[in-house]
Amino acid sequence: MEDQYITNTPIPNGHFYHGECHLSKKDECIEVVCPSTGEVYAQMPIASKETVDNIVLASYNAQRDSDWATRAPRERAKVLYRWATLIEQNQAYLARLEAIGSSRPMHEVLAWDIPYIIDTARFFAELADKHGGYIGATQSDRLGMVIREPYGVVGAITPWNFPLSMAMWKAAPALSAGNAIVIKPSELTPFSTVYLAKLAFDAGLPKDIFNVVLGSGRETGAALCEHPQVGKVTFTGSTQTGASIMSACAMTGPKPVTLELGGKSPQIVFADTKDLERTAHCVAKAITGNAGQVCVSGSRLIIDKSIEASFIECLKRYFKQLSPGVTWESETTLSPIISRQQATRIQSIVDQSIKEGADCLCGGEIINGLGGAYFAPTLLKIHDEKNIALEQEIFGPVLTIQTFDTEHEAWSLAQHDVYGLAAGIHSANLDRVMRGIRKLEVGSVWINRYGRSFDHIMPTGGYKRSGIGKDIGIEAFEANLRSKSVLLEFDEAY
Ligand code: NDP
Repeated sequence: MEDQYITNTPIPNGHFYHGECHLSKKDECIEVVCPSTGEVYAQMPIASKETVDNIVLASYNAQRDSDWATRAPRERAKVLYRWATLIEQNQAYLARLEAIGSSRPMHEVLAWDIPYIIDTARFFAELADKHGGYIGATQSDRLGMVIREPYGVVGAITPWNFPLSMAMWKAAPALSAGNAIVIKPSELTPFSTVYLAKLAFDAGLPKDIFNVVLGSGRETGAALCEHPQVGKVTFTGSTQTGASIMSACAMTGPKPVTLELGGKSPQIVFADTKDLERTAHCVAKAITGNAGQVCVSGSRLIIDKSIEASFIECLKRYFKQLSPGVTWESETTLSPIISRQQATRIQSIVDQSIKEGADCLCGGEIINGLGGAYFAPTLLKIHDEKNIALEQEIFGPVLTIQTFDTEHEAWSLAQHDVYGLAAGIHSANLDRVMRGIRKLEVGSVWINRYGRSFDHIMPTGGYKRSGIGKDIGIEAFEANLRSKSVLLEFDEAY
């Protein structure tokens, strides 16, 4: 049944350039595994430096020679709108590709990821003619204009946790601003991005304005970031890889980078929270959605001691209802972990955390016998602030629990030495909430809810080592433009 599902889905397993999907004969191929079953379902080329060079140069020439950057912004917007419509029309196939190749359950892709990327494309289409620089207050015999221009080619490296959404985060603002883009998706989840680029081409994007190069991070990704014709790099992934990308961009540019990196985000629950059961569901969802493989996962519960016991019971009830399974079954509510290697990494952090004194209240282990790698939703009660589970991004359905007696203690536990991506505050006391918003050193704060929404106007990105720059929002659009100062002198006398 599962095999049939996969074999009936054609896989676009080649680089996308010149308006087509190509399997480069020169590149070596690797096997790509379906996370749900743990079985190989496709081959994928690993682009050599030479292939990256050809694909980037094609984009560079297209951006310079086609009318993409110079055509009326509203005409560019129309292409993005058509792209959104084509995504809508092809959603059944796109959702299959995403579900087979990633940890995203098909029903969630259809209900969330696809409507989300359609809206993202439309949001950035709307911004195409909503910028233009400014006039400077210069001396009176001259006119000073600061004009905004695209970079040329934007290089994007996307992760495996939300392949379609991450590709759209990078592509839509870059394209709307008049750039070309070359994306290297994760080698674990490459194919839905290839199809996204094909749909953009079908929507009327000139050839090579949106190319996709497949390959490994270390070889292909690095070659893309280092390419001299790439004007800007945007990346989502781990803090460690972000640092090496930034360093490559410094050495080969310098070129600007946008980095959306790791997190260790707290969910702070006060005793005055309005509805304990509802809050517990919110907290549980924020750590089990996509099996915790989310940069903004709410991975640290910080809770008032007086409600800890009843809250934990609610969380356990929620966890028990979750059903692991292949992403294309409608009953699946717990995603697979992207790879066996990632599952083993989660296991080793949980084991070490327990060794360091944490109490495992539920879960704590890989679920065997399902083919793919699944991890049981886990609660770790932490007694020591130096515990590994508090320090490292786990990227699995593992929630640490710490308690507080006073508000002061809550804010101090919530601050993280390294990360500052997001935080959730659950409280009915507005004064307390406002104090928290001011105190927390994070890029996003959610009050009595957790997670991003369809409000694309709200930028996302981290403080500290969780990144620099923003995705989505007007800031993401602005980040795809550089500014040129123009001084025009004229004779005041006549
Ligand atoms: P990485 O950050 O290494 O991978 C993310 C992307 O970067 C992938 O496309 C990868 O390609 C690419 N990449 C890797 N090395 C380089 C490089 N030197 N130059 C350019 N691109 C590169 O994450 P991992 O997949 O190794 O996961 C490890 C941990 O990272 C996770 O456990 C999690 O903690 C964190 N992570 C965080 C994400 C987030 O959304 N903030 C997303 C993914 C992971 P390829 O996969 O082909 O090697």
